[in-house]
Amino acid sequence: MSPALSQFCYLVSAVCSILALRGLSGPQSAKTGLYFGVAGMALAVLTTLALPGVDAYGLIILGILIGGAAGTVIAVKIEMTALPQLVAAFHSLVGLAAVLIAGAAFGNPEAYHIGTLGHIHPGSLIEMSLGVAIGAVTFTGSIIAWGKLQGVITGKPVVFKFQHPINAGLGAVMLGLIVLLCLTQSAFLFWLIVAIALALGVLMIIPIGGADMPVIVSMLNSYSGWAAAGIGFTLQNPLLIIVGALVGASGAILSYIMCKGMNRSFFNVILGGFGGEVAAGAAAKSDKPVKIGSADDAAFILKNASSVVIVPGYGMAVAQAQHALREMADQLKKAGVKVRYAIHPVAGRMPGHMNVLLAEANVPYDEVLELEDINRDFPQTDVAFVIGANDITNPAAKKDKTSPIYGMPILDVEAAGTVLFVKRSLGSGYAGIDNELFFYDNTMMLLGDAKAMCEGVIKALEH
Ligand code: NDP
Repeated sequence: MSPALSQFCYLVSAVCSILALRGLSGPQSAKTGLYFGVAGMALAVLTTLALPGVDAYGLIILGILIGGAAGTVIAVKIEMTALPQLVAAFHSLVGLAAVLIAGAAFGNPEAYHIGTLGHIHPGSLIEMSLGVAIGAVTFTGSIIAWGKLQGVITGKPVVFKFQHPINAGLGAVMLGLIVLLCLTQSAFLFWLIVAIALALGVLMIIPIGGADMPVIVSMLNSYSGWAAAGIGFTLQNPLLIIVGALVGASGAILSYIMCKGMNRSFFNVILGGFGGEVAAGAAAKSDKPVKIGSADDAAFILKNASSVVIVPGYGMAVAQAQHALREMADQLKKAGVKVRYAIHPVAGRMPGHMNVLLAEANVPYDEVLELEDINRDFPQTDVAFVIGANDITNPAAKKDKTSPIYGMPILDVEAAGTVLFVKRSLGSGYAGIDNELFFYDNTMMLLGDAKAMCEGVIKALEH
């Protein structure tokens, strides 16, 4: 393939990637976005295979077969709730790839047209050393994030004395070494930078608590993009630069949105030491009585309502209750009840978690509304049906300045006529804090598994 044609194909592929991101920003257009992504990536791979100088087809096909088979098995087997750690594991591979490519280019610069051994162009050396440093941080940082989310490593923040000064010092030493490397082209310095960056990846992520881990995964996603972009310069591959920058920028924006949704400062998250996951369970205490209802009670209240807003949370995902929930909503709609769904930006355990589950259950998109579009409707709503959600409804976020979630925007379900709360106990959610809403006069607790409760309500509605 001629260089001009390959550049053109890469450009088309880059445009497909941009259209993919655009499509993935909304549920209606997500499928189209996905097709653009697949088409762009297929074109990129085919173009690269057709480049002059690419001839080890046997090895490449073997790699595609092994990687493709592993990817297919993982995609089929993975549980929705385990996606954050899977994403972290995948990012570690992007980081590792950046380190290996930079190592190969440093050891054999002629093959990459960036100079000769010991005489690499200074510009290429800067790009390469930044790419390798970010890649190595991403590699070990993502492994630690995976370990914490998977429960292999403690989810609690691992803190020790002088942690932040040590990290800052290591970062400064690494930058100094990059300057020295550019001046001396020493292989020892190159691998020393890799070693320090690998250590920094571990040290940066261990003080971060489990509750903040998804933000970190998104941040590492951003890092992996910048590492890829850096290596794109080394390989003089415009597509890698564009796609790396897209991933880097979108990961950074997502981290910001998540921090805003959780009312966490981005710097606090990075500096760590907060948000160790509190084992759920400690039941909320109050002198006030708590009203506990049954599926029959819920069915009675729901069918006599004229408008119902369903608020799904993490528990709905755990119970896989989305199909039963949609069936329940269908029955209510048949009975003339107006049913809508309210989605909090950090409901569940990853951005878009609830949207994906509701889409899987074929809930019409126009019934699914974001926090800012539905919150003002709660005072005119007869029933708020909170299913497996907790923190995202907790009034402490508005009232209690000492609460860790103070300032987080919440769904104002308490303003509805009746709040039905489906969960298994009076225990806390992810933030590990009590929810006084359980004891409000207009709240009725429906204690039980989310799916079983929906099925119970459906049965009761049928009679
Ligand atoms: P929460 O974790 O606050 O609450 C979930 C509730 O679901 C629990 O209180 C639990 O109560 C209940 N539950 C668990 N299993 C079941 C089941 N089988 N059936 C019924 N109920 C069940 O979830 P929310 O969605 O309200 O809030 C999300 C939290 O996660 C926020 O604190 C957010 O900051 C955090 N977070 C979200 C991220 C995201 O990107 N979405 C990322 C990082 C953190 P019980 O044990 O009594 O059943």
